[in-house]
Formats: sequence, C-alpha cells, structure tokens
Amino acid sequence: MHLTEDQLNEYLDEATIERVQIEEHLSSCDECAARLSTLQNVFTELDSLPELELTRDLAAPFTLRPSLPAQLPKFLTLTVTLQAAVALTAIGIAIPFIANLMPSINLSAFVGVSIQLQTQWTSWLDTLSTFQLPPMPELPIVEMSSLLITLAGVSVIWILGNGLLLRNQLK
Ligand SMILES: [Zn+2]
Repeated sequence: MHLTEDQLNEYLDEATIERVQIEEHLSSCDECAARLSTLQNVFTELDSLPELELTRDLAAPFTLRPSLPAQLPKFLTLTVTLQAAVALTAIGIAIPFIANLMPSINLSAFVGVSIQLQTQWTSWLDTLSTFQLPPMPELPIVEMSSLLITLAGVSVIWILGNGLLLRNQLK
C-alpha cells in the first residue's frame, strides 16, 4: 500500500498522527519519497511567488459607492426640521384666527380641526393674496402682522425646502 495524497499533505503540514509509519514507508519506497519531494517543491514554489496586485479591485462592486449618500444631507434635514417647526408655530398662531373666521368649528375637537387645517391652509394663502381681509377688531394689529410675517416665512421656507428636496431626488 502506497501513501495517499492526504497522508503526504498531512505529513508536510505536520498534522499527522501516523508520522512514524509514514516515515517508515518513505524510507523503503522510492516512489512515495519522490511524490513527497514533488509536493514539497510545489509548496515551496507557491510560497516564493510574489504577491501580485490585482489590476481590478474585485471587491469594488460590492462596496457602497461613495456617491450615494446614506441619508439626506445635513442641510436638507435641517430644512425639513425648520419647516416642521415653523409650521407648528404658524398653526399655533393661526388657531384664534381660524376660530374668528369659522366660529362654527368647535375648537375643543382639535383632532377634527387639525384635519381641516391643512385644507384651510391653502385656501387661506389664496384668500390672503387676493382678497382684502375682513376687519377683525378682536385681533390686535401686532398679532395680525406677526401672523402675516409667519405665513410669508412659511411659504418661502416651504417652497425652498421642497425645491431642495426635489432637486436632490432628481440627481
Ligand atoms: Zn509507496
């Protein structure tokens, strides 16, 4: 019985428990000794091969492209947050204004109001730009002007923010 490839490999790796038997066979069998030295030469040659740089990075297609942002850029996140904050402020300022325009709406049912608020929001901006406001002695002049400034600010920030978001999506 000659030695198997596995036995020779394990002997070279010094991972065999049959070391004595293998050496006995090698000393008496020229054929297996020759196979062992061939195997040894192959490993020596493999070890002496220089490490070559790949001309193509094989890992590249599997890594994230740096051009794809993992999340929205910081300034966009800031814009969206600012939009939400300004909108909340505007709604807070606007609630007495709504109550004045639409006395039929019960403010205690705020959930129902907030749903209608969005619809009212757009029609408001139209009303403000096209019609003259009805006189409202209940609201002081200072409050009125701050409301108008807030509305103007909301509109500008909203349009700018959405413009930025849209441009980011189109890229
Ligand atoms: Zn042999």
